Amino acid sequence: MTLQQMPKPQNGPKRVTILGSTGSIGCNTVELLAANPETYETIALTANSNVSLLAAQARQLGARLAVIAEPERYGELKAALSGTDIEVAAGKEALVDAATRSADWVMAAIVGAAGLAPTLAAIRYGGIVGLANKECLVCAGDLMLAEIRKSGATLLPVDSEHNAIFQVLDVDHVEAIEKITLTASGGPFRELSYKAMSKVTPKQAVAHPNWDMGAKISVDSATMMNKGLELIEAFYLFPVKKDQIDILVHPQSVIHSMVSYADGSVLAQLGMPDMRTPIAYALGWPERISAPSPRLDLGEIGQLTFEAPDSDRFPALRLARQSLQSGGGAPTILNAANEVAVAGFLAGKIGFLDIARVVEETLERLVAPELHTLEDVFEMDASARRHASELV
Ligand code: NAD
Ligand code: MG
Repeated sequence: MTLQQMPKPQNGPKRVTILGSTGSIGCNTVELLAANPETYETIALTANSNVSLLAAQARQLGARLAVIAEPERYGELKAALSGTDIEVAAGKEALVDAATRSADWVMAAIVGAAGLAPTLAAIRYGGIVGLANKECLVCAGDLMLAEIRKSGATLLPVDSEHNAIFQVLDVDHVEAIEKITLTASGGPFRELSYKAMSKVTPKQAVAHPNWDMGAKISVDSATMMNKGLELIEAFYLFPVKKDQIDILVHPQSVIHSMVSYADGSVLAQLGMPDMRTPIAYALGWPERISAPSPRLDLGEIGQLTFEAPDSDRFPALRLARQSLQSGGGAPTILNAANEVAVAGFLAGKIGFLDIARVVEETLERLVAPELHTLEDVFEMDASARRHASELV
């Protein structure tokens, strides 16, 4: 793994780009940058459609470039940034261009496979990439790792579980790792019967008990597909086999994940559920910087509890595990079908339980050969989206 490559010594401020700066991860990252204006210089910020927030962030951080993905919003963004010398661009190619502007550190925080091309571009550029956008690794894990080996880029996990594992992974003794355990909050429907889940609304599904996140990942947490995607993400990030990754439900979200070693030791990282901590860890790495997250008070919390995940009520867990086992294009299909199904659920077209059904039926309909090129990934992704859309 190239996770541990040391960055070049830093002279002057760290040059930072955020792909997806207007989202939940993006805004938390902007907050950390804004708190330390001498330490960071903002190169580029990108967003999908929220022109006013993007423009405000670009002004606040004095970014050099602001990119809006929807091409028809170019004029609006240009107007919002008039009177500044911030360069403005729009469209998919501009996102890729933003990812390769001389930054030392790029936050990949676009949601879904839409982030794949710009994230890969940042990897090819060869700096440090903080990865929040787990869907990239799920749909194109082998290709991303191959590009990392070629460019010498460093990939730092931002997802809280993977960031936790990264913090406690004994890289000098990987042969002594017995397993890694991803903790899961269980989401808002942890205690709900399968039958009752058929009636839940998008509003109930996005109301996560512990974490404040974007809509898509919140629904993924409710179906537990998020943990399924994280299982696949962990396989690509860490030196473990497919059957060495466990999932454990831990409703308080205080232990963010753990690594078990041959001598019986288990190392875990703890903290309050606040993404500013893992983002700060990745932003400061290999140093530690301060973050304004609330501090953990175990005395006040009193009890930490654990339970086995239930893949009967949460079939997404089973589907993700099967996709990881079958390999090839299966995780790509899983991810694409899930994106379509979640969008369908949020738009009120299908019920909550239909999300896993659409994913399962899409997986059944398609053969999943090995994917050798980025074009193969895009084709598999597009084909899965077509089938899933029909099912929705
Ligand atoms: P979000 O929906 O709040 O933000 C998504 C960002 O991506 C926005 O800036 C949006 O403008 C941009 N975007 C969306 N569609 C786009 C498109 N088609 N083209 C270009 N840009 C687009 O999502 P989030 O909660 O910040 O999550 C971002 C990523 O981080 C996801 O992959 C998620 O799984 C992962 N993640 C999030 C959290 C969290 O706490 N929010 C935790 C762990 C991992
Ligand atoms: Mg996570």
